[in-house]
Amino acid sequence: MFNNNTIQRFNDTETPFYYYDMGVLRNTLDACRDASSKYGFHVHYAMKANFNPKVVDMIQSFGFGADCVSGNEVKSAMEHGFDKGKVVFAGVGKSDKEINLALDADIFCFNVESVQELEIINDLAKAKNKVAGIAIRINPNVDAHTHHYITTGLDENKFGINTWQLNDVAETLRKCANLKFLGIHFHIGSQITDMEVYRSLCIRINEMQDWFENHGFAIKILNTGGGLGVDYYNPDTNTIPDFESYFKVFSKFLNVKPGQEVHFELGRALVAQSASLISRVLYVKNGQKKNFLILDAGMTELMRPMLYQAYHTIENLSREREAKSEGADAPDTPHTAPQIKYDVVGPICESTDCFRKDVDLPQSYRGDLIAIRTAGAYGEVMASNYNLRDHVQSVYSETAD
Ligand SMILES: *Cc1c(COP(=O)(O)O)cnc(C)c1O
Repeated sequence: MFNNNTIQRFNDTETPFYYYDMGVLRNTLDACRDASSKYGFHVHYAMKANFNPKVVDMIQSFGFGADCVSGNEVKSAMEHGFDKGKVVFAGVGKSDKEINLALDADIFCFNVESVQELEIINDLAKAKNKVAGIAIRINPNVDAHTHHYITTGLDENKFGINTWQLNDVAETLRKCANLKFLGIHFHIGSQITDMEVYRSLCIRINEMQDWFENHGFAIKILNTGGGLGVDYYNPDTNTIPDFESYFKVFSKFLNVKPGQEVHFELGRALVAQSASLISRVLYVKNGQKKNFLILDAGMTELMRPMLYQAYHTIENLSREREAKSEGADAPDTPHTAPQIKYDVVGPICESTDCFRKDVDLPQSYRGDLIAIRTAGAYGEVMASNYNLRDHVQSVYSETAD
């Protein structure tokens, strides 16, 4: 990801910034398209993971659909040229204004999360003399075995409709003339790497599909949601997520009937590895028990570690490179610079503003470039200007189109 030219370019650029490797993004999208098209599966990109315009444009150019969770995301998807027949709108709290916007845009489907929401969409569609495509987001009570902050498919989560409410759903669908039932939707969490979880999800989807068909509803769409995880520990050696195994589980365990479409909503897996947050060491603080590297980036640029206790690989690009270039033709020889444990922290006035504790790094100095890897998903999109910080900039690899 970082050759000498790239690092030279970083040296000349004001930090902090997100660095997007468009080649990695393209390879990832290629791999996903290849693996999904083998089974005729449809992939929608979950825009909330990253709405950087260059990133979204490239994803759109691959023919993926868009999975939106706000009215503005629907608007943005349309502006980026996504086919309206491939735009879906999920979210537990869609406002009337957002629903109206999506109705006006004639999107393909609303993923509906409560009985009351069904009634509201029906009323608003009726007022416009339109019929809204609907998928019911069911809470399958499957444990995603991921961090509890990012699990969404258990009974105690706010998302989706629980199975004991399905009779109500069926009754409401029958009386709502401005809703067109298309199918069922699931999304059980994020950063899921255990394929067994998806097998359990398939089994639940099959049961739910039987339930609807037994109650007289034909299902056209099986939407399995997203959540495929990436390798935050090995961004260079395991860059592309295992799309092959992922789609294979669904092809094997999902009971797909003739004429049905299987939809996926991938966010993180498509974009996470394509970006790093690049910052500089402002100060090195050596304590009696702890050493701190104080960076010029903090939770205002990348919030995942503080919000979800997420792990990111952290590298000192200035020192690793120096050590590497000692053995010029053996760039991967382990360097001999002394390794020191640092708490890598940001400048924000919050104690939680720490990227990671006890990070092993070569001895580091003021001005060193630090890369926080795998920051392409839920990174730039969550940036804020708390402390009245500058808006974080983006830099793109030379190979971008
Ligand atoms: C966030 C979200 C996704 C994408 O999740 P990833 O873990 O990034 O793949 C998909 N569908 C819905 C409804 C979501 O809210």
